[in-house]
Amino acid sequence: MNTQISPQLVEAAIAWAEQTVQGSTGRPLTKEEATMAAKVGVKHTELIQICIGPVPMPQEDPLRTAVLNLGLGNPEGLAIGYSLFLKRGPKGQNDILFLHECAHLVQFGESGGRLRPFIEEYLGQLLKDGYLHSKWEVEARRMGGITF
Ligand SMILES: [Zn+2]
Repeated sequence: MNTQISPQLVEAAIAWAEQTVQGSTGRPLTKEEATMAAKVGVKHTELIQICIGPVPMPQEDPLRTAVLNLGLGNPEGLAIGYSLFLKRGPKGQNDILFLHECAHLVQFGESGGRLRPFIEEYLGQLLKDGYLHSKWEVEARRMGGITF
């Protein structure tokens, strides 16, 4: 993979993420969803906002093209800070998509609960190992219940 992410692109990604979170309207987790999130290791389930519908993606270049090149196009879900964007609502106790995105919330918490270090680390991992093999994606798939 030859994709490079310049510092300007990292800044654009952080700005986009901040705007997206600020512009989102979600709901708190249900009690059942909070229990599921806690099982994966999310500490502050009361902070989570869940937004169900089309998952936001950057629309402007060069960020849009970079995101597509990294294999992040057409996502089923996205976790930005404590906002969870899901194409569809969680179905049942073992909903793979919901648990996967909750795993990214745990990683966000472990990054100090701040968008900048989370996004820098996440993008760095994607550049190094690719989407499928990046550390946090492997971890999130495992926590979601997929073992590859
Ligand atoms: Zn993921």
